[in-house]
Amino acid sequence: MTRTSLLAPAQKVLDGAVPRVDFHMHTTWTDGHDTVVGMHQAAISHRLEAILFSEHARRTSDDWFGNFAAEVRKVSTDHCRAWVGAECKVLDFDGGIDTCEAIIKASDLVMASVHRFPDPNGNNMQRFADVNPEAAVEIEMRLMLAALDNPAVDILGHPFGISRSRFKKDPSEAQFRAVIEKAAATGVAFEINSQYHANPCDLVRWCREAGALVSLGSNAHRAGEVGDIVRALEGQSVPAWSIETARREGTLP
Ligand SMILES: [Zn+2]
Ligand SMILES: [Zn+2]
Repeated sequence: MTRTSLLAPAQKVLDGAVPRVDFHMHTTWTDGHDTVVGMHQAAISHRLEAILFSEHARRTSDDWFGNFAAEVRKVSTDHCRAWVGAECKVLDFDGGIDTCEAIIKASDLVMASVHRFPDPNGNNMQRFADVNPEAAVEIEMRLMLAALDNPAVDILGHPFGISRSRFKKDPSEAQFRAVIEKAAATGVAFEINSQYHANPCDLVRWCREAGALVSLGSNAHRAGEVGDIVRALEGQSVPAWSIETARREGTLP
């Protein structure tokens, strides 16, 4: 299956429908509270048609990632298709991501997300306290634009999510659009994430105008959060982002 065919159901959102998919969730394999089976059952109970287990994985995670992938591939696909994914952090301003060939091979879709900022030389990850908040949006943008050139990347996870959650800084519409335009040019799906994005409908519109692929994710770490993105697009109230999310991301691979 290709990136485009796996992500096809989500593209219905560009025509004004609310697709019943959730392509961002975590389980007890990393920092989630529920198992693969538990999350999948929640997806079925919310009548979702497809989900992506976008598990946190770094280059040293190949000792467990194969077993995780095997568990996902064992769940029944009668009611809700389950795909194997890896959420890998962006490492530097050259588009490097923290993963390895075995994990890329085992995954149906690879998501690149900014979780930390490298120092100005692009080397070690900085503590959040050492980052100038006024520069956060620019730094996150540079990291994302670089990651979009990485051919292993299928989805750009929670764009600008760290600026918002960690530094309370929101990008301008022009900055969002610049990232979306590059995603369109490189064929990478731009994720609309109900925990990090307060304006999912604006993002849908900008993706439509740019001709960008979209991915839809809830960032679920509990069964009860599965499908939050669907509820957000349907206009129901879900938290735009939480302190818990911000804390979690700061300590993650
Ligand atoms: Zn993330
Ligand atoms: Zn995540």
